[in-house]
Amino acid sequence: MRWIRARKWMVAALLAATPPLAHAGALAIVNARILPAPDVAPIERGTLLIRDGRIHALGASIELPEGVARIDAQGATAVAGYWNSHVHFIAPPLSEAASRPAGELGEALSAQYLRWGFTTVFDLASMSGNAIALRRRIEAGELAGPAILTVDAPFYPEGGTPIYVLEFEGMGEAARADEVATPVQAGERARRQLAQGADGAKIFAGAIVGGDTGVLPMPVPVARAVSDATHAAGKPVFAHPTNLEGLRAALDGGADVLTHPAPHVGTWPQDLLRDMLSRKIALVPTLRLFEIELDKDGAPPAVKAEVIGIAQRQVADYAAAGGELLFGTDSGYIDWYDTRDELRMMGEAGLDWRQILASLTTAPARRFGSGDRQGRLAPGQAADVVLLDADPREDVAGFAAVRAVYRDGRRVYPPAGAD
Ligand SMILES: [Zn+2]
Repeated sequence: MRWIRARKWMVAALLAATPPLAHAGALAIVNARILPAPDVAPIERGTLLIRDGRIHALGASIELPEGVARIDAQGATAVAGYWNSHVHFIAPPLSEAASRPAGELGEALSAQYLRWGFTTVFDLASMSGNAIALRRRIEAGELAGPAILTVDAPFYPEGGTPIYVLEFEGMGEAARADEVATPVQAGERARRQLAQGADGAKIFAGAIVGGDTGVLPMPVPVARAVSDATHAAGKPVFAHPTNLEGLRAALDGGADVLTHPAPHVGTWPQDLLRDMLSRKIALVPTLRLFEIELDKDGAPPAVKAEVIGIAQRQVADYAAAGGELLFGTDSGYIDWYDTRDELRMMGEAGLDWRQILASLTTAPARRFGSGDRQGRLAPGQAADVVLLDADPREDVAGFAAVRAVYRDGRRVYPPAGAD
């Protein structure tokens, strides 16, 4: 008993020696242009007061406690931390999250995600257990990184491991282990992955297998089994659609989020658009992905312009009809992390800064169950903050002009020691 008392006494002495408790962990970002959320009036010159990892107050005239640390954000725009709702950890070093040194992982996460303003990413399939291992090391404080949500391993239809997965460096035939043949098998694996920490599931509703088959749709009962198990846990189902059959399998199979547009379909058929809206489906644009894939295939400029134009129309028409967009790039699958092109292509499609900010912040936070604590600069929300060297209302590419990033009130970019 005696040592316990002694320890308590030591804690009390330590507290007495530190500055008044009210100032602990407080930070003020001053002189910033603040865009609190897409549906909230901007503050042209204001202060953001952060305390204990949360936003305590914001406004044009905030009274600051004495001695609070100040960051002068003159010329910068403050927005909420971004979500990238379509990434993969399938290339080294991030594909080897359990075994690589923390420094290597931290450098990759900084360059690929933090540096572009992402404080949360949703991994839409990696090697089983890998994203969860990466998350564990970040949350243990071994390295700085975004918050990670993951679907863990993907679900392919039987015989439907995509050709580009089989050809992806480091994957090959082993990827066929992620195929599911029956609803029972699919439901069991979904429940197992969720129990092991998955935050959702990813089905290949239309799997690109090449050859004579081309696109192999997932049987609806198999998709249904994954969705039922995932929804029972209150989690979302993502679907890779590809073509009209794949889209139908995704919708009838109970998916919530389409991981890409489906340019094969042309502009949305009206009945399909109505069905997507009534099911409250979210769509991830991944426009830059199409550009990269078409370039890789050596597509003639006219074909490239047509396919990208259709994808852009699908994104714009869906948003105009009231559909939800979630910003996402497919980074990790594509070796491209700079978000300027994606933002430019979204802007060219006709989306305005509010729609793009919603896709980066409020829409994913709400969709993935944390809208009450993430997605906005508002009192009580997590202090996930991006400072931009631009005003994205003038040019939406400005969302990529990242000066600094805070996650839970701690600066995660530039990394400590970089200044
Ligand atoms: Zn992907």
